[in-house]
Amino acid sequence: MNIAITSSLLGDLHCSQCGSAHDPFVRQTLSICCQAPLLCRYVIEEGSFLKSDLLTQPKSMWRYEALLPVIQPENQVSLGEGFTPIVSLKRLGGQYGLHQLSLKDEGLNPTGSFKARGLSMAISKARENGERACIIPTAGNAGVAMAAYCARAGLEAVVVMPRHTPEAFKEECIGYNARLILVDGLINDCAVKVQEMNQQGTYFDVSTLKEPYRLEGKKTMGFEIAEQLGWQLPDVIVYPTGGGTGLIGIWKALHEMKVLGWLPKHQRLPRMVAVQAEQCSPIVDTYQGKQVNSKQYVGKPTLANGLAVPRPVGEPLIMNVLRESNGTAIAISEEDMLAGVSELCRHEGIFAAPEGGAVWAATKQLVQQGWLQPDEHVLLLNTGSGQKYLDNIKGKWHQSPTL
Ligand SMILES: *Cc1c(COP(=O)(O)O)cnc(C)c1O
Repeated sequence: MNIAITSSLLGDLHCSQCGSAHDPFVRQTLSICCQAPLLCRYVIEEGSFLKSDLLTQPKSMWRYEALLPVIQPENQVSLGEGFTPIVSLKRLGGQYGLHQLSLKDEGLNPTGSFKARGLSMAISKARENGERACIIPTAGNAGVAMAAYCARAGLEAVVVMPRHTPEAFKEECIGYNARLILVDGLINDCAVKVQEMNQQGTYFDVSTLKEPYRLEGKKTMGFEIAEQLGWQLPDVIVYPTGGGTGLIGIWKALHEMKVLGWLPKHQRLPRMVAVQAEQCSPIVDTYQGKQVNSKQYVGKPTLANGLAVPRPVGEPLIMNVLRESNGTAIAISEEDMLAGVSELCRHEGIFAAPEGGAVWAATKQLVQQGWLQPDEHVLLLNTGSGQKYLDNIKGKWHQSPTL
């Protein structure tokens, strides 16, 4: 374990495109060489951090501290994020012929979404690097999470959000004393506003994958999936993809665990499925060869606010995960998403965000297409709680066609 801690002290940031090293102790954004996301690398070796070391660790994402970048424990800004339950979906699985269907419920995180993981990590590192004020373009949940962790760390927070975002997200940001700025458009328009406001570099820009450490927080979902399932990985992971940070992060964690020797020798890695909304499905379009990349893609708003990311900066990394894992990408209509939310609610007692509803809807379609087999272990990620989305779903979801 000491080796891993020492190596994370030495570990630095590498350009995801050309591999060139960047200093982890100063403010970073995309790589200077390729304008690509920076990835954290550790000098990890088999046996340097043992599974048995986990027994004494806290039941939060910080139990994997030795594989995370923050160095001084006093800089950790935590609200107990992570270590969310994996529950089996026996009723829905039974009705659709999936014998091993389960769901990791990230809606139970502080601030109601898995964005808590990324922002806990990023704000910890911002504090470590001496930042005082942070700014973020967001579709909703990330802004709420950043505002909460900044409040806890005593940092100033500016959140730039689409005007059409449900009220609950806005109210909560203001509650945490963030400055809230509303923009007509989607998250990419918010990003333009952030750049305008930050020409002097007054703020630390916490945009996903432009900031290197949110990915490290989100990757802890991968460690937890393995640990909570007794180190037997599922055959398939179905994930609602916006910026793709979670998908890339889980894949990164699986590889790190392989190097550490935490997984059985011949363990096959899961096929990764990227679920998007039909209203905004750049990854699906690129995956299906309908466009070379999403640089010109124009998206529309969707009930699943977190999926309205028209031009994800991490697209090349997302494509790698889908190809390397033999996964796929699939787009879901607004109607099917609502039906998914309704089914998870009435048959399993889980009030998922529309993003989670989309994941269940996608799973049903993949069963129908024969892409999923009855005996495969399929793990769904519900990334957020439905509670903040009432403005979006009110009056629509109860009437949704159901089983
Ligand atoms: C942000 C968000 C997503 C998309 O997450 P990425 O990791 O950026 O792809 C999915 N679901 C919810 C609820 C979100 O807030």
